Amino acid sequence: MTSPDVLIVGAGQAAAVAARALREGGFRGGITMVGRERHKPYERPPLSKAVLVAAEEPRLDVLPQEVWALGDIDLLNGSDAVDLDVAKRQIRLASGQVLAYDMCLLATGGEPNALASAPAGHPHVHYMRTLEDARRLRVALHGKPQVAILGGGFLGLEIAHAAMFMGASVTVFERATSLLDRFLPPDASMWLESGLREAGARLLFGASLGGIHSLPGGRIRLATDTGDLDVDEVVVAIGLSPNDSLARDAGLAIAAGGGVLVDALCRTSDERVFACGDCTSQQRPGQAAPMRLESWQNANDQARTAAAAMLGVPIPVPAVPWFWTDQGKHNIQMLGLPALDLDYLRRGDPGSGKALWIGHRGGVPLHGVALNAGADLRAIRPLFEKRLPVQLDDFLLDATNLRAWARQIQAGAAAIV
Ligand SMILES: Cc1cc2nc3c(=O)[nH]c(=O)nc-3n(C[C@H](O)[C@H](O)[C@H](O)COP(=O)(O)OP(=O)(O)OC[C@H]3O[C@@H](n4cnc5c(N)ncnc54)[C@H](O)[C@@H]3O)c2cc1C
Repeated sequence: MTSPDVLIVGAGQAAAVAARALREGGFRGGITMVGRERHKPYERPPLSKAVLVAAEEPRLDVLPQEVWALGDIDLLNGSDAVDLDVAKRQIRLASGQVLAYDMCLLATGGEPNALASAPAGHPHVHYMRTLEDARRLRVALHGKPQVAILGGGFLGLEIAHAAMFMGASVTVFERATSLLDRFLPPDASMWLESGLREAGARLLFGASLGGIHSLPGGRIRLATDTGDLDVDEVVVAIGLSPNDSLARDAGLAIAAGGGVLVDALCRTSDERVFACGDCTSQQRPGQAAPMRLESWQNANDQARTAAAAMLGVPIPVPAVPWFWTDQGKHNIQMLGLPALDLDYLRRGDPGSGKALWIGHRGGVPLHGVALNAGADLRAIRPLFEKRLPVQLDDFLLDATNLRAWARQIQAGAAAIV
């Protein structure tokens, strides 16, 4: 009997973790990984953080060198997969080479949403997805430039902090009327906003951008409804579109909001094709429709799930979504998913540099937000995992030991069961 071969399309976070999980799970068939970029899989979170500001570029490898040295994962990097034929079970590369598979894993990530008026090829326009993007922006941030950041999401704001750290003057354009209002409670959003202003950033909310024009000498003029702004560099950070075209063209199910539709086992609508990471959309507990989660943890978790499903072994218990961002010197972590109808309670004071919010519905914690309080959020993690209704008064008391409090609630729930 021959062992089946796995073909992984994409060579990023999810691809690497899936390949490793397959080997650790005892998979003995061939694993071929096809990646558009010319690098081995690397971690992207540092691109908008340390890569922009650290004296030396940090190590970014997802997998240790020893894993590649074993030689049991064939990496075809610098190779673009352009066609998936599920009937013939094969992938065609841009080079014309055709690769057959028994099982295929799509781990193609996503592409930054583009602005037609700010094309990626412009010498002073920046998008942020690849190591090359980050290295290019790092160079551009030298010499204290004036920088416009289009998009006040997590990524845009991380870049704003990094740019200011490097001495740049920063203006952030945000279409909404406050920062990250879909993800943070209002007082956390206001804290972030005032911190950015104190650090010297100019924030333009609700500004509508008329056009972007190149000026002689390399400067760029942004025409807005509140006047023109001339800058040296423009960074566009207005979200991500999943790379789902291979699946779409192959006739696989695609979610209404984009992304390869996968079930809880990361199976697509074709039994031999799986998908994981930023390219997917998946139904989550308590959510009305399948959703995309663009996060490091989701890429890792779905990769392990897909590997388990391919191996035919029980899948790991899905983790509660977790996300972190570094905003300047502050670390923000989130657990669970935000929703418009949640009530938030806060322990601590963001002004003091440390605070923890619980977003709950009827006393059931569904979304936790930690400002420089990751350990506290970890201590109460089981409450989010088990969705246990809690008496929140105790949470607000400084004297409450959060770990003991969470343990007590779990013990109480177990006694009732
Ligand atoms: C700048 C930045 C900062 C981030 N910071 C955080 C953070 O602080 N916290 C957090 O939780 N998450 C963060 N993320 C998100 C996290 O890095 C991603 O969710 C994660 O990398 C997704 O992994 P992936 O494997 O799905 O996609 P990717 O890592 O993007 O890998 C996909 C790979 O597939 C390749 N590919 C695509 N199509 C093809 C094709 N047809 N043929 C061959 N190859 C193809 C792509 O070139 C890419 O190399 C950040 C992301 C970025 C870009």
